[in-house]
Amino acid sequence: MNLILLGAPGAGKGTQAEIICDKLGIPSISTGNILREAVKNATKAGLEAKSYMESGKLVPDSVVIAILKDRIAQDDCKNGFILDGFPRTVPQAEALDQMGIVIDHAVDIDVPDQVIEKRLSGRRVCEGCGASYHIDNKPSAKEGICDRCGGNLIIRKDDKPETIRERLAVYHEQTEPLKGYYQKAGKLVSIDGTREIAEITGQILKVLEA
Ligand code: AMP
Repeated sequence: MNLILLGAPGAGKGTQAEIICDKLGIPSISTGNILREAVKNATKAGLEAKSYMESGKLVPDSVVIAILKDRIAQDDCKNGFILDGFPRTVPQAEALDQMGIVIDHAVDIDVPDQVIEKRLSGRRVCEGCGASYHIDNKPSAKEGICDRCGGNLIIRKDDKPETIRERLAVYHEQTEPLKGYYQKAGKLVSIDGTREIAEITGQILKVLEA
């Protein structure tokens, strides 16, 4: 099962990917998490990506495609994977096709911009494992501490209001055209991402069973 989660930043892709990968026993791959780790470790890719990420722009396709290629070549991806935040441009989707990766479903989690702005400003992420929380919608059991790994919860640098608006503009311009790309391929399913987390999970699982 190779699944793509599409949707604006803050639509809930990461939250759903975490739940579904546990249920299906396949890894969830977040290029954003891999890049944040690379920035933290000051690797070559991290140094190249840092300024783009902090200003809410997309990291160049060549950098992200190379990262993704390495990740899906790993052993745990043999039975499939969930992609969270990749592809984000049409050339990235074409690169997946060229790698011979067959996508089963591209699930678009649809959330209006005003809701996104509110969500991202309340988002907290674990600096250890990257798990995401929300101060109102999905609080951790213990304030400031990750339920999964006990790491500290922090506000992402790119969750500042001006960067959120830039990321939404980038999403509409460069990522939203992917809906048409996967629609044409007969793989697109759109889900209302304003529903409860569990309801959205249920709808995604229904798509996967169909
Ligand atoms: P995310 O955690 O998915 O919201 O990603 C955080 C940031 O990482 C984005 O705003 C981009 O700067 C960068 N990024 C993550 N995935 C990609 C991608 N597939 N293509 C380009 N940039 C990406």
